[in-house]
Amino acid sequence: EAPAARGGLMTRLFRRGGAAAEAPRRLMDDDMLEELEELLIASDMGVTTSQRVTANIAEGRIGRRLTSAEIKEALAGEIARIMEPVARPLPLYPSKPQVVLVVGVNGSGKTTTIGKLASQFRGAGKSVVVAAGDTFRAAAVEQLQIWGERAGVPVMTAPEGSDPASLAFDAMTRAKSEGADLLMIDTAGRLQNRQDLMEELAKIVRVIRKKDPDAPHNTLLVLDATTGQNALTQVEIFQKIADVSGLVMTKLDGTARGGVLVALADRFGLPIHAIGVGEQIDDLSPFDPDEFAAALVG
Ligand code: GDP
Repeated sequence: EAPAARGGLMTRLFRRGGAAAEAPRRLMDDDMLEELEELLIASDMGVTTSQRVTANIAEGRIGRRLTSAEIKEALAGEIARIMEPVARPLPLYPSKPQVVLVVGVNGSGKTTTIGKLASQFRGAGKSVVVAAGDTFRAAAVEQLQIWGERAGVPVMTAPEGSDPASLAFDAMTRAKSEGADLLMIDTAGRLQNRQDLMEELAKIVRVIRKKDPDAPHNTLLVLDATTGQNALTQVEIFQKIADVSGLVMTKLDGTARGGVLVALADRFGLPIHAIGVGEQIDDLSPFDPDEFAAALVG
């Protein structure tokens, strides 16, 4: 079955309704609305959001025979309306450095996203320092170093197993003395021991605030779109252990149903700063609500 993000939603609604070339319209009745709601839920939009979107679509249309294009337009409009307020690029501040703390579970795409962002900032003429704060995962540090080379930015590391907060402090000192525009700090993603991680992140925040009481200016939560509804749980957890200010959703190039972004926007209202659309350095795009809605509805 084609994922919703690849454009199956309308096709399925019409196919299921027995509509074909000879009947290109479908009556919007309770049955059809129920099917529509099911399709939205199946696309990871969540029950509450799907119900509300369906109710809004029904308004003024119930009892009418509609073409798939008409339903598509209405649906895309509803989804875009939910997404517009959260489609916001990473806000930039005059602080030198602007400190961006990057959090998320292992494998979500933190390292990759930091590399892509660093490259974009460099391209915009900004100087960037990166700190490899996941000091317990040697592989993560190595990966970040590779990304640093690709992006042309220095990556500060510390011996394996050493205190991430002390690395963050050193990175802050260096970024300040060099007058860097941005400092991006990678962090561990071990949710297995939430209490530990919470303390680790709190300590990082504490020490960087010694250098700048406003830091971190952004706490970016990186989420993997292929985890579907899990992304909602991850936001809940990370909001408890860090002061999440915005999201980056990765792996939207795959078979992922981006529907979970609608549920996220509806439930948390956190800005979506960018989306990951591949494994290469330029595969990070601004989040465009209209384009997203059109692709989701298909
Ligand atoms: P981390 O453990 O959170 O630092 O995750 P990584 O940055 O190492 O990414 C985990 C895997 O996801 C790697 O294989 C990345 O290449 C891949 N990845 C990250 N972002 C994207 C994306 O937007 N699209 C795709 N297709 N793969 C991605």
